[in-house]
Amino acid sequence: MLIFRQLFDSASSTYTYLLGDADSGEAVLIDPVYENERRDWALMRELGLRLVATLDTHVHADHVTAAWLLKQRSGSRILLSESAGAANADHGLKHGDRVAFGSRHLEVRATPGHTSGCLTYVLDDHSQAFTGDALLIRGCGRTDFQQGSPNQLYRSVREQILSLPAACLLYPGHDYRGMTVTSVAEETRYNPRLGGDANATDFAGYMNNLGLPHPKLMDIAVPANLRCGRPEGGVATHQEPSWASLTCTFGGIWEIQPTVLEERMAGEHAYEIQVIDVREPREFGDVLGHIHGARLLPLSELASRAGEIDRNRPAVTVCRSGTRSAQAAVLLQKAGLTQVANLAGGMLRWRAEGFAVEDGAE
Ligand code: FE
Repeated sequence: MLIFRQLFDSASSTYTYLLGDADSGEAVLIDPVYENERRDWALMRELGLRLVATLDTHVHADHVTAAWLLKQRSGSRILLSESAGAANADHGLKHGDRVAFGSRHLEVRATPGHTSGCLTYVLDDHSQAFTGDALLIRGCGRTDFQQGSPNQLYRSVREQILSLPAACLLYPGHDYRGMTVTSVAEETRYNPRLGGDANATDFAGYMNNLGLPHPKLMDIAVPANLRCGRPEGGVATHQEPSWASLTCTFGGIWEIQPTVLEERMAGEHAYEIQVIDVREPREFGDVLGHIHGARLLPLSELASRAGEIDRNRPAVTVCRSGTRSAQAAVLLQKAGLTQVANLAGGMLRWRAEGFAVEDGAE
């Protein structure tokens, strides 16, 4: 079975695509965004997927790729066009190459014109294609920098993309109006630049008179992407928490596993951790019991009493199932606490894993 997700970066209106083969667990990411690396990583972990490669459609001018960051985390291969000339890539892709994930693969098609190194990735059964900025929904990428060429783009789109089956779904690299997908049939008919009866001369006339300003991040993004997103000096700018081994969920919440909390509380710096139990008072003394040293601070009172929590020490929020305490963790972060984690699975999992409680029933 194919696992497919379309992910969005709201800062640059970029789409990132996750394609996974459920049987083998292997996955690829097309056009991952640097700032979303943790989110995308969490999604793959939650779906049980193992990232084998990141594929960029081209050297982007409006955002930095997460290819290098993801490689540091997972060992995934960095793939993009050979003609992009980027440092730190593991392999330069050429027209006709295949990129496999499990029993599925993507076919590589050269579609230059927006940049000289633009690639379109076509799914093995020709049901989906990922066009980058060569073809957008009712539009296309600009052709006025990065070795762009209207004539080349016209040929690329007509010969390599609109030649796919009419029902083939096309997924663009961006959309600025909230549209998510189109098809070969639709763009052939309705694309105002490249569809209908437009010929190469019509297209070039249109493109050479767009008069667009340069992208805001171009001077930062292009050099960074020519290093495949490796920061200068090779050190990632966003830090992972260091007070315990935590995981960040796809929902964006830092979690601590029961075994990690138990170990941390048994260690020599045990006094540092503040366990904040956000259940109601009657639940605190209920059959589930509570963690030794836990402080009762019901969720309903947390916003007004957040000041009672020491902000220089890590805080772990706890409830029955880990749901209310996730909300509590968000609340404490908003209140300015920087070292906060939710106990994954709450008291139910804590007890199921056999850890000690106070006042609970057997
Ligand atoms: Fe682009």
